[in-house]
Amino acid sequence: MYCLRCNRQIEAGGKSIALYMFAQTVGIKPRQKSAAHRVSFCPQCSVSLAMGPPPEGALNVAAWEMIRNLVGSDPALTEAAWEALSGVQGLLPTGTEGRPHYSQNAGYFEF
Ligand SMILES: [Zn+2]
Repeated sequence: MYCLRCNRQIEAGGKSIALYMFAQTVGIKPRQKSAAHRVSFCPQCSVSLAMGPPPEGALNVAAWEMIRNLVGSDPALTEAAWEALSGVQGLLPTGTEGRPHYSQNAGYFEF
């Protein structure tokens, strides 16, 4: 799975927002149903979208409102975005011999 907005790869079960969409006819027999589509947004894009202004288009606004709702209901997604942005995701304790540590000044992992 890839984030629809930034193309970042999202691992199976990784923190993200998934939107499922399908269309079906109503009041017509036999009922027609489209295939279901799934689009995903990584935590950074989810938070960015939720904090940003409403997009154009009725369908986009509907999706945006759902994303805002999820981002606003639990800080876990915001925390995941923060961790990814600040580069501390999965960080091991610093100063341990023989282990990579994150150089705060240089901004990269040192081995
Ligand atoms: Zn993204």
